Amino acid sequence: MEEIDLNLLDYLVNADTDYIKAAVAGTQYLPRTVLGVGTFLLDHDGDVNLLTAKQQVTFEKFLKPLLFHVACQGLAGPETCMGNGQVETDLLRKCYQSNIFRCHACRTATAANTIEE
Ligand SMILES: [Zn+2]
Repeated sequence: MEEIDLNLLDYLVNADTDYIKAAVAGTQYLPRTVLGVGTFLLDHDGDVNLLTAKQQVTFEKFLKPLLFHVACQGLAGPETCMGNGQVETDLLRKCYQSNIFRCHACRTATAANTIEE
């Protein structure tokens, strides 16, 4: 599988836990369970193989989508995305920090008429 961006994981686990809390909301899981798995991964260079079977399920369910599969919100909603509908992983930290989820194509499209975000 793709390598985990540890800086991004650190951001989600330590700097701004709202995204994990939102992902967990309405499920049987507790935020601290997911945060615990995230912390474990940070302590072990993101080596998913060291997780227990149960932790791997938690990772797949909550952390993997936040780290690898984030929908682009396009120029005015997901249906207006100019790319493939997903934000590229190299942009994700910027997205979480700004709360603006746009892929490269959408950023390029808006660069001309918006000030730096
Ligand atoms: Zn897009």
